[in-house]
Amino acid sequence: MSKCEKCGGSMEAEETYEFAGKSLCEDCYLELRVKPVTCDPWAVYGARNTKGKDPQLTDVHARILNLIKTGGPLEAPEICRDLGISEAQFQNNFATLRHMELARACKDGDKVCYTLF
Ligand SMILES: [Zn+2]
Repeated sequence: MSKCEKCGGSMEAEETYEFAGKSLCEDCYLELRVKPVTCDPWAVYGARNTKGKDPQLTDVHARILNLIKTGGPLEAPEICRDLGISEAQFQNNFATLRHMELARACKDGDKVCYTLF
């Protein structure tokens, strides 16, 4: 019996998943694979390792980039409203842009804004 390095839950050997050198339970592994956290260097590390050499920009990526290029820095709710996407969709797409070093988050006082890299 070993322990998940993220949530601390115990898990059987066959339920152990490796991600960025850590042993994780299935839940934590899937959560990290599906939702990379923008400012988590561990998630960035994993994404860098698994992403192909020629990342493809999707339509949503292009629209986010275009929006922050013309109107940024912008807060997430502004971007979501302009593009008609949910905050979760934005965070997912933004994480990819961050991994490609095309866009980044920045602090404006207490607010988190998003801008070009
Ligand atoms: Zn876990």
